[in-house]
Formats: sequence, C-alpha cells, structure tokens
Amino acid sequence: MTFYTFGLIGHPIKHSLSPLIHNAALAAHGIAGEYRLFDVPELPNNATRIVALLDSFHAGIINGLNVTIPHKQVILSYLDKLTLTAQNIGAVNTIYQIGSRLVGDNTDAPGFLKPLASYTRGLSDDKTAVIIGAGGAARAVAYALNQQGWKLTIAARRKQQAQQLANNLSKHPLIEKIESSPGVHPDDCHQIRIVAQKHINRIMEWTKVDLVVNTTPIGMTPHEDENPWPDDCDLPSGAIIYDLVYNPAETAFIRAAKAAGLDCIGGLDMLIEQAALAFECWTGLDAPRDVMRVAAFEKLVK
Ligand code: NAP
Repeated sequence: MTFYTFGLIGHPIKHSLSPLIHNAALAAHGIAGEYRLFDVPELPNNATRIVALLDSFHAGIINGLNVTIPHKQVILSYLDKLTLTAQNIGAVNTIYQIGSRLVGDNTDAPGFLKPLASYTRGLSDDKTAVIIGAGGAARAVAYALNQQGWKLTIAARRKQQAQQLANNLSKHPLIEKIESSPGVHPDDCHQIRIVAQKHINRIMEWTKVDLVVNTTPIGMTPHEDENPWPDDCDLPSGAIIYDLVYNPAETAFIRAAKAAGLDCIGGLDMLIEQAALAFECWTGLDAPRDVMRVAAFEKLVK
C-alpha cells in the first residue's frame, strides 16, 4: 500500500494548520500517509535544504509539497515547469510531479475565487473591487479577479509595492492604464488603480465598490481588535467583504461588515479550498472539504 508524504516548506511554520487539514483528509479517505512541516529559513543560506527536499520528491519519498512565506517566489527557479497561473502570479504554493518533472502551481487564486462565486452571480459585468495590501496573497487575489474582468483598486501602505503588483498584472490585455494619484478622478476605462491605504476613504468618491478584500494580516490573532478599514468611514454599501485572515474565525473586519448587513467571506473558506485543490492534485481523489474545515475550525480563536 502506498504511503503518502506531503509537506509544507516555509518559515516560520510551527503554527500552520496545514498538517491538521491534510491529515484529516488522508484519514477520511483511509489513506496511509502524513503531512509534515519542513521549516526552512530564508535562502540562499538554506538552498541545499530546498534542493534536498525536491530530490526526495524525485526519489518518491515525498509526494506533494506546499510552499509558503518566504519561499513562494524564490522556489520558481528550482522547478521544471510552472502552470500558467503560477507563472502569471509569479508565485508557487503547490508542487506536484508529472513523470520526472516537478511542476509548480498556485492554488491560492482558484481557492480565493471559489467561495466568492456564489456571492457574485447577480453582479453586472462592470465589477469593481478594492484590494487592501499588496503582498504575496494580494498578487494571487489581484490576478484571479483581473482574469475575471474585475476593475481593481489596490490600497497599500507602500506605493512601490502596489505599483509592482499592478505592473505585474499589466501584462494582461485588460490593463489599459494605471492611475497612481489618489484623489484624481480616473476615466472609466482604467482597470487598475493604486491608492495609498490612508486614502482608502476616498475610493467611494470615484467609483462604486462591489467587493473589498483584506489581504493584509491586520486583525490576525493576537491583534483581534484591529480592522483594516478606517473607523471613521462607512463600508461601501452593498459590497461583499472578504477577509483572508482566518484566525480568529471571525475578524473585527467581518464583525463590522456583518453589523452593516453586508455579505461576508472569512479566510477559512479560501484556506480550505486552496488546500483541497492541492490534495486533489496530489492524490487524484475528491478532497473531503467538510472534514478538512472542521479540523481547522477547532483550532481557531473564537
Ligand atoms: P505578505 O506577503 O507579508 O503581505 C502582507 C501585505 O500586508 C503587505 O502588503 C504588507 O505591507 C501589508 N501589511 C502588513 N501589515 C500591515 C499593516 N499593519 N498595515 C498595512 N498594511 C500591512 O503576506 P501574505 O502572504 O500576503 O499574507 C497576508 C495575510 O493573508 C496573512 O494574514 C495570511 O495569513 C493571509 N492569507 C490567507 C490565506 C487563506 O487561504 N485564507 C492565504 C494566503 C494568505 P508591507 O510589505 O509594507 O509590510
């Protein structure tokens, strides 16, 4: 009987929920195997450890890997092939093997979109989203939304980081121009704008907002009272509020959105979906999403 070994490469990872989620999925299928944590600090000092882990893959000792901070981007150069999604985002969170080749994929983008789908059915084609933050998760979110034709405003505390994210997306034909001056009224044709996070309250002067996504760690335990949306500004009326932070189970941002009567999506939905897609890719089996969710939910701050 095959014994599966999956794992996560990153640093720091000791609080990761991935072993719980994947081991629950293996157990639900009655598959022998385990999901392990491979704590590998920053490259290049630890490059030999990454190479050794990838060699274990080739040797059949490891059957699937997830990748997280700080290696999601640097791992690209160690792989034989990238999916189009991973290539376009410029980051890999899942590695699998096809024949003798190691393939890098990114399940964060489809993992983000799946929970959103049921909330967007009634929206017109002219959909606008505000993404708060411009780090690794924002890249996957922005790519996913851009692919689906959303107009985007990226609200980040560092303009250069937001500009890089927008430039990365601008390879996509939907990009027409990048508006970088907060307060300037952009033409309707602009697909991507960037704005300083401190000017987030001005976005609604320019545009309707159908979706707000928090991709920063603001509100993450132990800072459960922090909210990425300014206290003195109403949330956009009728918008869907999506917080990528999954611990606590209900963030201050989600609580505020619920109080305002808005549709909300918490980070656990994406966490489970991106893990489920990786599990399916490694095993070829349907991921038991409910079981995976229960395993993770038990460990969250309530
Ligand atoms: P990251 O690459 O470090 O990016 C974080 C972004 O948030 C950066 O733009 C950072 O700006 C900004 N930021 C951090 N603290 C801030 C603050 N106090 N005020 C304003 N901006 C701030 O991290 P990531 O990988 O994108 O992860 C971000 C969050 O998403 C984490 O909480 C993570 O757990 C969550 N996440 C959830 C899922 C899921 O499946 N639900 C998946 C991926 C990530 P600077 O660069 O200036 O610091």
